[in-house]
Amino acid sequence: MFFLLFGLRTREGLVSATTMVCEVCGVAAAQSLIKRSTKFTLFFIPLFPVRPSSYYLGCAHCGAIRPAHRDAYRVG
Ligand SMILES: [Zn+2]
Repeated sequence: MFFLLFGLRTREGLVSATTMVCEVCGVAAAQSLIKRSTKFTLFFIPLFPVRPSSYYLGCAHCGAIRPAHRDAYRVG
């Protein structure tokens, strides 16, 4: 008997962190740029993305997480 194990896996990773004024709390604090990607998995091995990656900014002061565009916060 053969079982085909497949599914989706969402991972989040820190892209960069920089000090900026938070749009939510108005305090200059570390803002983390987080990338979230969802991939199709076969036998628990991630193979290919099923949707474009999304980016979020997280504030170290108030903890607010808001959508961000990657190019707007590119470092370097
Ligand atoms: Zn904040």
